[in-house]
Amino acid sequence: MTSTSVPVAVASWREWAPGLRTLTLAAEPFDFTPGQFVNLALDVEGERVSRSYSLSSAPGAPLETFVVEVAGGALTPGLFALAEGDSLWLDPRPQGHFTLERVPEAEVLWLIATGTGLGPYVSMLRAGEALERFAKVVVVHGVREASHLAYRDELAALDLSWIGLVSREDPPAGALGGRITAALQSGALEEAAGVALDERAHALLCGNPGMIRDLRALLEERGLRRNRPRKPGHFTSEKYW
Ligand SMILES: Cc1cc2nc3c(=O)[nH]c(=O)nc-3n(C[C@H](O)[C@H](O)[C@H](O)COP(=O)(O)OP(=O)(O)OC[C@H]3O[C@@H](n4cnc5c(N)ncnc54)[C@H](O)[C@@H]3O)c2cc1C
Repeated sequence: MTSTSVPVAVASWREWAPGLRTLTLAAEPFDFTPGQFVNLALDVEGERVSRSYSLSSAPGAPLETFVVEVAGGALTPGLFALAEGDSLWLDPRPQGHFTLERVPEAEVLWLIATGTGLGPYVSMLRAGEALERFAKVVVVHGVREASHLAYRDELAALDLSWIGLVSREDPPAGALGGRITAALQSGALEEAAGVALDERAHALLCGNPGMIRDLRALLEERGLRRNRPRKPGHFTSEKYW
């Protein structure tokens, strides 16, 4: 990590399920655009280990990120061992272009995530911009276990369609079973949303690279195109690894 990094303390943890938490940092607020990420780091055995984390807070609010502990990972086991008040490194320069500024005009905004890929959408929705700009917003959150449907109550209270999908156990009331890709193919996803994922929509895809690859292929089969800076399209993605 560069010399722009500053020490920050853990302000609080919220545990959604074992190994799945929201981290709030006691950092000075700085400007960023919802959808952007920052780098966090720890010194592990004498080496600085840095990783990227999307912000889930709205600009100006206490800095928050939604994180999963990766067993055997280089950073997250140490991160999850930090107690409130303990320090880590923050590079406060926001990065990335996975923002609504890059999304062309569309009627419907689909915010599709697996796991912690939900974080940037929480920021966009808290900032209010997604709900103001699009006639309809659909949030799709694919997880393995029902307890991983984090932020559900907060999001479901907004003026949007929230669709949770649970792949490894029975879904709770109000959620679907299986994977996002299968639900798109079967029609269950659009039925639950009450709207089509077609050329009138823009889809943001975030999280697991396998989901993003498979979903992109399904969207391309429907004639939808990847969004590029000089060639507007119908979907934009952010891979977490
Ligand atoms: C732009 C960007 C934004 C990101 N934002 C977030 C975020 O908001 N929250 C977050 O938890 N992670 C996020 N990540 C992933 C994060 O940077 C780290 O890769 C992750 O925390 C694992 O770090 P590690 O050193 O513990 O594991 P490593 O030793 O680096 O192991 C990497 C492996 O961990 C697994 N993995 C990595 N990230 C995830 C994940 N999110 N969910 C499930 N498995 C994962 C994959 O199998 C990957 O191959 C983001 C990555 C990028 C590129």
